Amino acid sequence: MKTDKFLHYTKSLCPQCFEEVIAIVAQKDNEIVMKKTCPMHGDFETVIWQEGAEGYLRWLDYGGIDAEGLAKTEEELEKKQPDNAIFRQQAMQQPAAAALMTTDRCNMDCPICFTRNKNEAPYYPTLSELKEMMLFYKNHAGAGAPLEFCGGEPTLRDDLPQLAQMAREMGFDYIQLNTNGIRLSEDVGYCKELQQSGITTVYLGFDGVDEAPYLYKYGRKMLAQKKKAIENCAEASLAVVLVPCIIPHVNDGQIGGIVQLAKQYMPTVKGVYFQPVSYFGIYESDEKKHITIPHLLNEIERQTEGEVKREDFFPANYEHPLCSFNGFFLQGKDGRLHAITKAKKRAYAADGYKNIRSSTKKTWRASNQKSLTIAGMAFQDASNIDSSRIARCSIQIIGKDKQMIPLCNKYLTNDAEEKMYGGIN
Ligand code: SF4
Ligand SMILES: [Zn+2]
Repeated sequence: MKTDKFLHYTKSLCPQCFEEVIAIVAQKDNEIVMKKTCPMHGDFETVIWQEGAEGYLRWLDYGGIDAEGLAKTEEELEKKQPDNAIFRQQAMQQPAAAALMTTDRCNMDCPICFTRNKNEAPYYPTLSELKEMMLFYKNHAGAGAPLEFCGGEPTLRDDLPQLAQMAREMGFDYIQLNTNGIRLSEDVGYCKELQQSGITTVYLGFDGVDEAPYLYKYGRKMLAQKKKAIENCAEASLAVVLVPCIIPHVNDGQIGGIVQLAKQYMPTVKGVYFQPVSYFGIYESDEKKHITIPHLLNEIERQTEGEVKREDFFPANYEHPLCSFNGFFLQGKDGRLHAITKAKKRAYAADGYKNIRSSTKKTWRASNQKSLTIAGMAFQDASNIDSSRIARCSIQIIGKDKQMIPLCNKYLTNDAEEKMYGGIN
């Protein structure tokens, strides 16, 4: 395999048959690519970082991964990553937060859905089954761990308030609802009921500030509903985090607009959590192009006209630095966002989940403070999955078999739309 400038080895999977393969990470032109070859299915190449080696290695270094420590030979790779971490369903470290899958039912039909798969049996566990899973999670991670209700669309469960109450009685004091917001937009009384039952935070799918991304993704307008959901959450004292899935040429021009809209809804909106698209499920595209972290950070700076700067963001030092970025801002009297954080080098922290949990619980909770987290996670798919990232995964699924599963493992889908692991949890 010829490459422009070899950087290091890692382990990945064939995007067709999920066979484990050795991958080369190299600079090609001014980007970093992952190249891999499956004996059965041939060569694959994907861009993992849209800038040159200097920026890539600096980001890794800031996240506690020294360039000298990267595997430069296949022998070194075997020594550094002896386990087939990718193939483990079990996460290798404590979760910063974990998702309880409440149902696969949904009132939308998004082609890029992480979790649902129409070929699988419907999933609608009983309250006592969910209680069992929450108990397992509590014993594994401690009741202080953030709990997320996911789906499908959790609000399609009429017993969601009872579920939240049950979780609160078990000691969970940060309960996040991951939702498309439709039901919340229709009924402020329902929002209040959720808040009184123990839900603290609404993690709201929010793809843009005009209708184009909603029409593209769902074939319908949704912006008014999304805004109404935020207003209802404000009335119900629920904190909101906006979650845009950024797709090239669809809404990558709306990044700055989303940050500005978040500001308008402060202090209800506590964060914008960008998720560059990853190709799970049944997403059909000839060109499965990724938006990588440096491009997203540059666009945040450019589209906010420098109000938010790339240097305000730092990589994770608990999950792998290629997984996420974080910045924290306060709104000044001038109405502008002022960064509290800045890019800096930190060593890997084996107990870093404790800090992530406590800052999530402190900052993503209803309050009068006009603060905004701007952060994001670049989930992996079969084209770019990397064993070193899976080994440091912090966002996990509470599995039905009493396992904590790295999210990127759980929903991995190959080019034929088959999942590596069946089922929603
Ligand atoms: S869910 Fe995926 S992107 Fe997020 S920390 Fe885990 S491995 Fe990284
Ligand atoms: Zn293959």
